[in-house]
Amino acid sequence: MKPYVYIGHPIEKETEAYIAKHCHYKIWNEENEKVPEVVLKQELKHADGAMLTATKVTDEIVRDANQLKVISTVSVGYDQFDVDVLSKHGIYGTHTPYVLDDTVADLIFGILLSASRRIGELHHYVKKGKWTIEPDSAFYGQDVHHKTLGIVGMGRIGEKIVRRAKLGFEMDIVYHNRSRKPEIEEQYDVSYVELEELLKTADFVLLMVPLTDETVKLIGANELSLMKSTAVLINGARGPVIDEGALVQALKNKDIFSAALDVFETEPLPSDHPFLQLDNVTLTPHIGSATLATTRAMEMRAAENVVQGALGNVPRDVIPELKSRNRV
Ligand code: NAP
Repeated sequence: MKPYVYIGHPIEKETEAYIAKHCHYKIWNEENEKVPEVVLKQELKHADGAMLTATKVTDEIVRDANQLKVISTVSVGYDQFDVDVLSKHGIYGTHTPYVLDDTVADLIFGILLSASRRIGELHHYVKKGKWTIEPDSAFYGQDVHHKTLGIVGMGRIGEKIVRRAKLGFEMDIVYHNRSRKPEIEEQYDVSYVELEELLKTADFVLLMVPLTDETVKLIGANELSLMKSTAVLINGARGPVIDEGALVQALKNKDIFSAALDVFETEPLPSDHPFLQLDNVTLTPHIGSATLATTRAMEMRAAENVVQGALGNVPRDVIPELKSRNRV
């Protein structure tokens, strides 16, 4: 008999067709409403696998899910998983690495350019009909080419950004990471530095770490105070990696030049958030991987993971923490 899979959000027709070949399934098809917890818990009671994205996976959610073998998320970040809970219940957590790296790196470079050359701000200026005289120095931004980029979190996406920065913009690159990456240092002439030195020396500080207990509020008032007044801070990781209150203050005081943010402590960004009142911040709605082609590729990879797990096999993309706990 085919296994049963619960899909907690709408998916593309091709993804659905693939799952249908291997499993019985049900989909929560509401675009604008998250699957209610009571519905989810009921469905997981008899599910062999689940596709859930941006749903907090807690003990409460999976306590009665006695035959659940896998929870697959359509994202590379998996901070919504409680790894101890998955481990305790013997459930594989899977994510979607590799397929989104270039797409995210493109967006990151886009918002980096926007925040340094003030593209968003000037776009509104022109659209509002304010371009009546030649722009003077009040409109000038910061050069990107030949400047120093500091990458915090030199993983898959970090490396893709290195390629763009090094080959395209001839930037010097320093990085800080949990472990050193000798191959990347050698291949791209990139230097490892401690976080404090990176903050002091980089013209662009890019955050590309996962959200973990160690990275919550990695950048707060103290770290912002170390940055150059001409520096740009870019967050492509997760909102809570930055202390947003401290960043608002630094941007208001012009302690740094600007920020470019794709991710936030609360998403969607509340309508009264102080970021919305600031000119020196570029905001995008957590859209790093969101092109049609990449979203489809991520969904298909997540579908393959959930099918493999539901069938009783080891899925390809089990999250590293579960691999290291000998779950696979
Ligand atoms: P990855 O390959 O796992 O890279 C993450 C890097 O961060 C790794 O090199 C890791 O070090 C390092 N790291 C982990 N904890 C650290 C710490 N405490 N201090 C310093 N470095 C640390 O992941 P990725 O695919 O590049 O993605 C990175 C993150 O970007 C994801 O977790 C996700 O949250 C975010 N993301 C956002 C979007 C978006 O739409 N904005 C899209 C995709 C991903 P080790 O090498 O030692 O493990």
